[in-house]
Amino acid sequence: MKQQLDNLVQTPIPTKHGDFILHYYSNNIDDKEHIALVKGDVAGKNNVPVRIHSECFTGDVLGSRRCDCGEQLDLAMQIINVAGFGILIYLRQEGRGIGLLNKLRAYNLQDQGMDTVDANIELGHLADEREYSIAGLILENLQVTSVELITNNPKKIAALEKLGVTVAKRIPVEAVAHNDNIDYLKTKAKKMAHLLFQPKNKK
Ligand SMILES: [Zn+2]
Repeated sequence: MKQQLDNLVQTPIPTKHGDFILHYYSNNIDDKEHIALVKGDVAGKNNVPVRIHSECFTGDVLGSRRCDCGEQLDLAMQIINVAGFGILIYLRQEGRGIGLLNKLRAYNLQDQGMDTVDANIELGHLADEREYSIAGLILENLQVTSVELITNNPKKIAALEKLGVTVAKRIPVEAVAHNDNIDYLKTKAKKMAHLLFQPKNKK
């Protein structure tokens, strides 16, 4: 079956980071509501700042300090606003793809001393089950020629390039480290190759 999606609705959403157009997609891959927040004119453009953000209910909505998701979401919208154009793709793959229930169970395992990677594995999952084919289709739908990806995750860049997306550059998005997220950030850097805690001149 050919993977496809439909851009069903576009509607303006004013935010604290300026005005965006929200694009609502349906697709034949899963039954989730994936979204793109678009600023400015992106069709046919090169070097479009793009954040591909995977849903994190606790971080994005509740402002949980266990992870850096909420802060990254905010920073990404800020970066896009300053650039004057760009796209935030909001993918509904909670908890690095394992879902909210398992993410919350993993939190309890982490409180017993496991790190975020080992906790997922203990629950019978992979460390990261995220998948980006819908993001690739959304970028195709928005007719973006090449992107500057707002991420700390080199695997995300590789996954997108595999889908045929041209990633011209990486834009770092580093949340502030503090007591509640420092172990999580260190595990991301050490076990998942995220580019965090890099010397400033090496970005
Ligand atoms: Zn999170």
